[in-house]
Amino acid sequence: MTAKILDGRAFAATIRSRVADHVRRLRDDHGLVPGLAVVLVGEDPASQVYVRSKGRQTAEAGMQGFEHLLAAETPEGELLDLIRRLNDDPRVHGILVQLPLPDHMDAAKVIDAISPDKDVDGFHVLNVGRLGTGQAAMVPCTPLGCVMMLRDHLGDMSGLDAVVLGRSNIVGKPMAQLLLAENCTVTLAHSRTVDLAGVIGRADILVAAAGRPRMIPGDWLKPGATVIDVGINRVPGAGDKTRLVGDVDFDSAVAVAGAITPVPGGVGPMTIACLLANTVTACCRINGLRLPEGLTP
Ligand code: NAD
Repeated sequence: MTAKILDGRAFAATIRSRVADHVRRLRDDHGLVPGLAVVLVGEDPASQVYVRSKGRQTAEAGMQGFEHLLAAETPEGELLDLIRRLNDDPRVHGILVQLPLPDHMDAAKVIDAISPDKDVDGFHVLNVGRLGTGQAAMVPCTPLGCVMMLRDHLGDMSGLDAVVLGRSNIVGKPMAQLLLAENCTVTLAHSRTVDLAGVIGRADILVAAAGRPRMIPGDWLKPGATVIDVGINRVPGAGDKTRLVGDVDFDSAVAVAGAITPVPGGVGPMTIACLLANTVTACCRINGLRLPEGLTP
């Protein structure tokens, strides 16, 4: 068997074009422009790249972007004041504080200060609780992208065995909740799981988010399984170059799985597309408007 390759770049482009369509309708029918504020504290080069990319894609979707670049030594109180101003700003529907924050800041306190209705990362405890209890929540972008790709490929997932590898707050746990909401039988595996190969071998759906390069060989997979590889790991490449690989050993997995996301070009591009989708969702909810089809969980 050769797995179908699930192309995240193409699917993310579809999501972005759905977002742009909805943004146009919001502007034409309601005079609204969804606004996304991105806050970056410090000069972490990877974070700067993400923030630039978010700004560019926000503008391309016809939305308004607000960038706040704060020096690394900014006192926590100043960041909290900025978040309060953004909470009160009617032009802003989504607020994202780029993580990680400098050591002198308490990330939980900062996330807690964001209005849950504008929490487009879905990290606020109220949104975590809403997702866990089946209420309308802001859903973290990466798991949202994964479930959209799964739905697009599989349709109804009722009764399928799903294994999520990794129990982080930003990927593993919300992913497990979303699969539960799709009526899968969900196993959340992690670093203390006994017989990981046996657990993964029963999975019709595997979402791998451990951050361990190629730790899952193809012969662990159930033949025909759908594999979503969230892992992004930098490993030595040709000469003195490096390259990105996932948590799944793609070359052996492709011969066993029914479908698989590549790294790069799988889940990665979906995350910013889902951030834009969440901003549109937040704008609609804040204004009491019907939610956009194909952009919400
Ligand atoms: P994390 O380090 O917070 O969590 C990793 C989880 O994997 C932990 O729960 C741990 O128990 C589990 N784990 C680690 N080693 C394991 C092992 N040997 N066996 C079983 N379980 C193991 O990481 P995270 O933030 O959830 O990210 C996971 C991966 O996903 C990383 O590679 C990260 O770069 C990537 N990621 C990608 C995107 C994207 O595509 N946009 C977004 C977020 C994270």
